[in-house]
Amino acid sequence: MPIGNRRLPLVLPRYSLTGDLLSFRRCPLQYRYLNGSKLPPSRPVQLWFGEFIHGVLEMSYRIWRDTTPRLSFPWPEHRADWRAEPDPTWATHDIGRIGYSVEQALRAQGKSSRDRDAREAAYRRAFRAVNDIGPHLFPLVVAAEEKIIGTRLVGGGPTQGRTDRYELHGIVDVLTSLTLGMVDRSNLIRTAIQDVTSGLNGNYEVIVDYKGARRPDLADPDRPYWQQGEWQVLTYAWLRGRQPGAIPVAAGVLLYINELSPGQDDIAAMKRALSSNNSDVLPAQGTADWYALTNWRPGLQIPALTDEFRFKRTIRVVPVDQSRVNAALSAFDSVVNEIEQCVTSELVAGTIERQWSPCGDEETCNACDCRYFCPHPAPRGPSLRPVEAPHAP
Ligand code: SF4
Repeated sequence: MPIGNRRLPLVLPRYSLTGDLLSFRRCPLQYRYLNGSKLPPSRPVQLWFGEFIHGVLEMSYRIWRDTTPRLSFPWPEHRADWRAEPDPTWATHDIGRIGYSVEQALRAQGKSSRDRDAREAAYRRAFRAVNDIGPHLFPLVVAAEEKIIGTRLVGGGPTQGRTDRYELHGIVDVLTSLTLGMVDRSNLIRTAIQDVTSGLNGNYEVIVDYKGARRPDLADPDRPYWQQGEWQVLTYAWLRGRQPGAIPVAAGVLLYINELSPGQDDIAAMKRALSSNNSDVLPAQGTADWYALTNWRPGLQIPALTDEFRFKRTIRVVPVDQSRVNAALSAFDSVVNEIEQCVTSELVAGTIERQWSPCGDEETCNACDCRYFCPHPAPRGPSLRPVEAPHAP
């Protein structure tokens, strides 16, 4: 019997939804510098806030789940300097104690807050997230930090690259199980979901994703976060449907945590959205929230917004249906195709900078570790790279 040559093992490129695909969308060149080279960012401060909020919410949920009788809300909060151990008299569910544990874990990975103000804002928002969202979300949770994985064809036409398939993976922050069609309007999250899935009855899952950010504007050509958030939860819904034991996913919920306790930048962005009518949740003219926003000026105290308005801005429900899921999947397939094409052209050309395009977006560049060697950082001209001194004759 003839024995053929042993085939090379099939290795599929792995792509994470948030770590790869959304990062590439933000800036292809930054993605290549950081992810392609496997270089960790030297100052991963942007990561810190999102991971801190995720960590506090996850730990709070586990404490709530494992404590009998159930802990009632609001949970207390003491605050200490990050160097000081929590006082032993603080309760285990004290948000200062939970935050301290999360902060120490992040510090061990080299991640710390940018400054005292950023740390204060993170604790303030964590406190609001646990006490405002926790009572509605925690009773609905069936799984937290659930890994999901699947394979897909690289989209957008032939890549002539390494492979025609890729592996897509992600982590769902929270999976909830709901019986839709029941009349129960005491739970804010359940009510928001029922309002956009009104024709559905029976048992469904809902995917929840925490965003350490404000609610994005509807249209922003430079930062299309509104659309990307929708693509993310719809793709999660598709991946979840491929896991054993999954039941149909009715909706994805994005929780924009900054809206619970907005800062000056968030209020300024809200005010801009109000004047350009560029958000799906804005106060009606003549309401207390409308007056609070229109009378606010940068530097003034953060205006007091009503709970109803803050919660509406926090909770976004994306209904899941096949045509929307297909659109999201094909958008991500095309991104993978673009990445694979960049990889192939880099292999042929042997250079990075012409094969991976810079974003040129001022906000992204200002927070980017690569701006000192990037050839096209915004907004300060063509390059910040040091100029070589001329050779002495
Ligand atoms: S400086 Fe700007 S253009 Fe250059 S890699 Fe960073 S984000 Fe991209």
